[in-house]
This record gives sequence, structure tokens and C-alpha cells, in this order.
Amino acid sequence: MLTAITGINWGDEGKGRMVDLLSEDYDIVIRFQGGNNAGHTVVNERGEFILNLLPSGILRSDVVNVIGNGVVVDIKHLAEEMNKLKAAGIEITPNNLKISDRAIIVMPYHVRQDCLEEERLADAKYGSTKRGIGPVYGDKYMKKGLRMGELLDSEEDLKNRLKGIIEWKNLTIEKGYGDSPVDFDEMWAYLKEYGSIAKDFVCDTGVYLNDAHKNGKKIMFEAQLGALRDIDYGIYPFTSSSSTISAYAPIGAGVPNLKVTNSIGIMKAYSTCVGEGPFTAEMFGEKAEELRKAGNEYGAATGRPRRVGGFDVLASRYGVMAQAADEIALTKLDVLSYLEEIPVCVGYTFEGELLKDFPIGEKLFKAKPVYEYKKGWMKDISGCRKVEELPQEAIDYIKYLEEAVDCKIKYVSVGPEREQYIVMK
Ligand code: GDP
Repeated sequence: MLTAITGINWGDEGKGRMVDLLSEDYDIVIRFQGGNNAGHTVVNERGEFILNLLPSGILRSDVVNVIGNGVVVDIKHLAEEMNKLKAAGIEITPNNLKISDRAIIVMPYHVRQDCLEEERLADAKYGSTKRGIGPVYGDKYMKKGLRMGELLDSEEDLKNRLKGIIEWKNLTIEKGYGDSPVDFDEMWAYLKEYGSIAKDFVCDTGVYLNDAHKNGKKIMFEAQLGALRDIDYGIYPFTSSSSTISAYAPIGAGVPNLKVTNSIGIMKAYSTCVGEGPFTAEMFGEKAEELRKAGNEYGAATGRPRRVGGFDVLASRYGVMAQAADEIALTKLDVLSYLEEIPVCVGYTFEGELLKDFPIGEKLFKAKPVYEYKKGWMKDISGCRKVEELPQEAIDYIKYLEEAVDCKIKYVSVGPEREQYIVMK
């Protein structure tokens, strides 16, 4: 069984929480794209954890976790994240964590380049998380990335490669941005210090996963960020720099020969978006502040307040298509319990014309939301564990969303904790 858990919206749908819940039935959890630019928050009996790089399965002692070739790895951040978890009593060894030898290393000069570019853009900035993710994916495609597997090469080979890359990088950092040059000795010391911690976990994850698959192991792919941040299908250029969709999962994991057998899309009961970019359903003022507070919508990786809005039918239907979702896990339904009327963005208009499909370019940037209101339930539902315990208005809202995006909602979560969910019939 190969299941992909992906985001239908702009990210922060609660993927980490659903992976934590559903990974009980899986042997292996894989991160297949992105880096430490997003955070998954998981609350379970061991405490609250924010995972940036490590797959959410790391919190289960019997799950093997894989960081695939599609991921970019900040080795200093990795060491720090592992230390925090170890301090909380979580065991991390090469037996339960495997990192692809093809994954690319995020270096300090990537972070610097990210910051320099955001500064240069000033008011026109993309809202980068400044973790170097854009520059490192750029380098990957320029064939100037350092791979995790190179940490296992001879020092001489690695040194030569790093030298060549730094020479090239300084054409941008020093000659282009006019900043101080990247220093080889400093970067070499950095690679040695953090590379020596990371290299014990490096292997060919494709070989490992193919063997595991042949032996009947159950595999879960865990996406970071949602469909609308995908580099191809998202709100470009306000996207991430990698592919966040389920079809990419086997490629980014190291098993392009395997196919996802079940795609579970994580969809939020309302909309949130971190950073810049078109967000048509956005609400402002007091109503937005109330929703932000009710949902505690502040970024897990950056602490930034998230932009909020009602559920966006057009964007979510598009997200369901992009993720090839077979079923949906609807999250944060409990957050809407305070609302007498639930705002839903049922469509967009562009220059007065109603749009049928999720747009790109000018149409997206200038689209206006069309809002409708659904009846709220005004009751705490965080203690509900069965469909029958939900108020009728909540069931009606779930059914409405199901029809609106044309996909079955299988799970509904009603709180951040592991057991706060309902399996729909
Ligand atoms: P991810 O990146 O998709 O994993 O999402 P985040 O971790 O950024 O955001 C999800 C946040 O919502 C976390 O703080 C979760 O603990 C919380 N959360 C997840 N599911 C629910 C839910 O059903 N209800 C409530 N109230 N909070 C939830």
C-alpha cells in the first residue's frame, strides 16, 4: 500500500496531525519535497512537537522515516531538530531515519542569497521564509547542488566540488549583490561539523523502499505545503520551489517505478494562507481577527499571523484535482463552532464575469470573491467522536463541502489532539 497525504489548499491544513494519526497503520513515512521552510505541528501524549524536516512518523517508535531525494536538507537545522526530539525522549537512529543520498544540501549561502533577494525586492517581495529554499532548488537545476551522498565521498573530492561551487556562487553574492564573498574555509568547517552528524543516516532510499515494498511494507508519503503552493500548479510565482502534489511523491521519494495507490487530501474547513500572493477568499477586519484567533492561525515555522478567509470552493476543487485525491480528511471543523453563519467563498468573478475554473495570472490576481453563508451550529463539537454526535448543521456543512469539491470526506478532525477525529460513514 502506497498512500500519499497531501494538502488541498495553501498549506497548514493540518497534514502533520493527520500523518501522525494515520501513520499508526504504516511502516514507513516519507517526506518527498520541500525543506525546513514549513512546520508540521503534532500534539500527542508525548507533548507538542513542531517538525520542519523530519517526517511526522518520527514520533512513533515502530515507524521508519525517510527524507527523499526531492527534499532539500539544511544539515544544521536537521541536527538541531534531532537534538530537540532526543531531549524529549524520542529515539533517532539510522534504523528509523534514512536520508536519500540524492537529496540536496541547503548551505548558509543559500539562506544569505534568499535574504539578499527579498531585500532587493523590498515591497515587491514574495514573502519567502528565508530558509534558502528557492536558491537551493535553483542550484539543483543549475547542477550546482551538493548532494547528501557527497558527504560520504573522499574529503578531497568534496573539497574540490565545494570550491568550484563557491567560486560560481560568488558571481551572484559578491559580484551581483555586492555582499561579502562566501568564504571557503567557513563553508568547509560547516560541512564537516554538520555533515558528520547527518552522514550516518544517508543511503539509497530507492533501494531501501523498493525492498520494503516487495516485502509488503505499508508506505506513506507526507507532503509539506499544499497544492496551491506547487511550483507548476500553484499560485506562481507565490509558490514554493518544489512539487507538492501526490503524483510527484514517488519521484521525490526515490521510487519513480511505483504508483500511489491512495491519495488522501487534507482540506481545511476554512481558508488560510501565509505570506504574499493572491488569496481571493481573504477576509479582513474584525471577522478575520475572530477567525484567526479561533483557529490560532499563526505560522508554525515563522510565527507570522496567517491570512484567513472562508472555505474557497473554486481553489479547493482545483486542489482536489491537482492532488488526484481519492478521499479527504477535513480539518479544524471545530474552529467554526462560534459562527452563527459560516462564510463560504463559492466562486470568483473577474471583471464582472463568473469564473468556472481556478484562474492564473491577471485573472487570479484581480479576481473578486463571491460569498454565501451557511447555517452554523454554535455548539462545541471538539468532544464528538461519531457522526451521530455532530449537530445536523455540521453534517450539512460537511455534505455541502463534499459536493462542492466532488470528493468523499472520510475523516473529520475536531481538535488538534490525536483522538479528536471522526470517521465518516
Ligand atoms: P500542516 O503544516 O499542514 O501540518 O499544518 P500546521 O501544523 O501548520 O497547522 C495545523 C495546526 O492546526 C496545528 O497547530 C494543529 O495542532 C492544529 N490542528 C490540526 N487539526 C486540528 C483540528 O481539527 N482542530 C483544531 N482546533 N486544531 C487543529
